[in-house]
Amino acid sequence: MIIRKTPAEIELMNRANEIVHLVHDEMRAMLAPGVSTLDLDRRAEEVVRDHGGIPAFLGYNGFPATLCTSINDVIVHGIPSAEQKLEEGDIIGIDCGVFFKGYCGDSAVTLGVGEISEEARHLLDVTEASLDRAIEAVRPGSHVSDIGHAVQTWVEAHGLTIVRDFVGHGIGSAMHEDPQIPNFGEPGRREKLKPGMVLAIEPMVNVGSAGVKVDADGWTARTADGSLSAHFEYSVAVTERGSRVLGTVPERLSATA
Ligand code: MG
Ligand code: MG
Repeated sequence: MIIRKTPAEIELMNRANEIVHLVHDEMRAMLAPGVSTLDLDRRAEEVVRDHGGIPAFLGYNGFPATLCTSINDVIVHGIPSAEQKLEEGDIIGIDCGVFFKGYCGDSAVTLGVGEISEEARHLLDVTEASLDRAIEAVRPGSHVSDIGHAVQTWVEAHGLTIVRDFVGHGIGSAMHEDPQIPNFGEPGRREKLKPGMVLAIEPMVNVGSAGVKVDADGWTARTADGSLSAHFEYSVAVTERGSRVLGTVPERLSATA
């Protein structure tokens, strides 16, 4: 069942996502060769708590950190570590979830450390733009599957591959609610979107094949072929007239709603 949120609940979720985006800004400023992913995580936790938030990932099914830090061939769920230091040319996915007054925000970005390869730049640009295409598909009356269709069409037209093993999700007082939101599929299927729904939309895109392998730590999910992978995510509310990316920019008015 998809739980629709009241305007007051959406304001709390907006605040939760603002805190997540503050974390992203702080991480962006810290990225440099030699910085460890544990350094990033410690600072992220401080930023979250300083703003009255609670790290949502910390302790989730035993996950040990505030951030997921996913470098190069890691798709998602990388665990911050003191031994893992950033290197020039790396790309790093930084995913963060925050509870604020009982409501969750969830957003991810993938960033380059210093100069990155053309291949990596293409991957980041296409993946970020696919999230934008997905958000354009969000309005009352469109369908859950229109989101994944928009992502898939964009990504495949640019020669890259959709990860199918992980999906986006509804979000609210729980981090993961209905519906599941795959990043692929036919348009016009599944539930119709209604105002008050909030969706965490999160394309995960590989340069190579779609295969995934998980490390012995039980979390770190990598591309099976070792190719680069990127991940971007926003929490997006369906509004009466279109959509609103929570924690970032003003409501977008849909041309057709
Ligand atoms: Mg996330
Ligand atoms: Mg998510």
